[in-house]
Amino acid sequence: MLRTHTCGELSKANIGKEVALAGWVHTRRDHGDVIFIDMRDTYGVTQLVFDPKRNSAMHGKAHELRSEYVIQAKGIVQKRPAGMENRKLPTGEIEIFVKALEILNPSLTPPFLVDEALAVSDEMRLRYRYIDLRRPHMQKNMRLRHKIQSSMRAFLEKHNFTEIETPFLTRSTPEGARDYLVPSRPNPGKFYALPQSPQLFKQILMVSGFDRYFQIARCFRDEDLRKDRQPEFTQLDVEMSFVTQDDIFELSEGLMKKIFKECMNVSIGTPFKRLTYIEAMERFGTDKPDTRFGMELVKLTEALRETKFNIFRKNLDKDGCIYAMNAKGHGKISRSKLDGLILKAKEYGAGGLAYFKCEKNGLTSNIDKFFEKKELDSIKSLTRAEDSDLILIVSDKKNVALTVLGTLRLDIAKESGLIDTNKNEILWITDFPLFKYSEEEKRWVSEHHPFTRCREEDIKLLDTEDLGRIRALSYDLVINGAEIASGSIRIHEEGLQQKIFKAIGFKKEEITRRFGFLIEAFRYGAPPHGGIAFGLDRFTTIFTKSESIRDVIAFPKTQKAICPLTGAPSEASDAQLKELGIKKSKGGQ
Ligand code: ASP
Repeated sequence: MLRTHTCGELSKANIGKEVALAGWVHTRRDHGDVIFIDMRDTYGVTQLVFDPKRNSAMHGKAHELRSEYVIQAKGIVQKRPAGMENRKLPTGEIEIFVKALEILNPSLTPPFLVDEALAVSDEMRLRYRYIDLRRPHMQKNMRLRHKIQSSMRAFLEKHNFTEIETPFLTRSTPEGARDYLVPSRPNPGKFYALPQSPQLFKQILMVSGFDRYFQIARCFRDEDLRKDRQPEFTQLDVEMSFVTQDDIFELSEGLMKKIFKECMNVSIGTPFKRLTYIEAMERFGTDKPDTRFGMELVKLTEALRETKFNIFRKNLDKDGCIYAMNAKGHGKISRSKLDGLILKAKEYGAGGLAYFKCEKNGLTSNIDKFFEKKELDSIKSLTRAEDSDLILIVSDKKNVALTVLGTLRLDIAKESGLIDTNKNEILWITDFPLFKYSEEEKRWVSEHHPFTRCREEDIKLLDTEDLGRIRALSYDLVINGAEIASGSIRIHEEGLQQKIFKAIGFKKEEITRRFGFLIEAFRYGAPPHGGIAFGLDRFTTIFTKSESIRDVIAFPKTQKAICPLTGAPSEASDAQLKELGIKKSKGGQ
């Protein structure tokens, strides 16, 4: 080894000891006579001291050192002079008096310093990711990610799971995104799809008799990127045979409990709370509610059924709904802030946003004259409004009213610092609809994926027009308002699977072409099974309290799916394309 110790471990106990350290020049402070170098490795920072009076040759050499040079320093551990200690550093009471210094590798001037306090653009951070990753918080994030993965593996192994890898070069898996395609050279004109998830393979592993499977799997989805999305991401993928939804909940809760304890030293209570999809939507306006704060939505449709207020009247006559939210304590909101909320509501898709301020004498608003006293009293009591509260109301199609208020609820809570970020609220959302109607495609589509089973009592609805009412045996795990895991009990019979495919408009040939192999497998003794997948990146983002999932992925891509470090994606040469039998389109790249 080039070192006897790391840069994070020496203390008073080592005073007088001869040591060798290896690492990077973090900072250099030249005090004219004495030079101090903070030397860094992944374990911490240790101060080196070069005193010309005690060793002028070494002091001369220290002049050559620059930021990010890789060095080896040999010397004696000594106590820092009184008053020079740094209590914030674990090594802050000692320093190394250097007797031998070797520059193992110089460095160009780095594009930015390895300093947490510096704001560096995302583009620069990704372009010089190896420097960004040297920053202590990134080192911490990556190590925590590793720890989470190790905890997951240990837990699942203890519960008799087998880790099995499934292919990257495969067929399309319908998880709702576009596929990444890879051309096959030996099969001109044919393409593999990178897996959007290992879904089909994990089900086939159940048919293969592997009772309990898991994989820390990479998934690829070509979709528009947002803060919490990457074209490739990692999930802990789990599948089990002969289980019910409750078995999967119990296993997942045990896993979560262990990870929170081991990785965060936080004890969480189990079983987790459960909310049905409908309840979550009605109370919080979203299927991933942040329940760390209140401000729940309230239905006003019945109370205002006879309203003469024109806008509400028109909506109610068109089967619309009226929902409200009590923004507690916001009654003194300024006009401009209120206008801001109205604008946001419109941005989120509502026709408008009505409001009432709750004052000593009752509810006041620019529209209060259109309401009867009885109606105002109901609004006040249903929203439990008190002096200084602000009631926000949306009247629209049910889904629009709920989601707009749900989004405003979060905006207001974030802006007014209402969320206790030290709290963890974990809950299951159950009973999702099996299908949702896509206005774009003019057909029903799967809410989860088409291998999801529905409640036995709802199977009969498959033969009706009422597909929207079928409840799936699917579930999401939500932590602090983020969807962390998602899964379902699966279909294991050919007949039911065919029916579901048909309901979402897949033609017979398409079913055979895309999923024939799965349907065939179901004919050879498929056990009842179900599973779940945990988004590792999002999970680690929550644990590290990071802003974006990019902070917990070593080499992520930009919003435009570019890797600034490697320059990927890049052009293929004419020879490569020819070999693959691919022609560039005219004017194309
Ligand atoms: N394959 C699903 C997904 O990636 C998870 C599951 O149903 O297990 O979202």
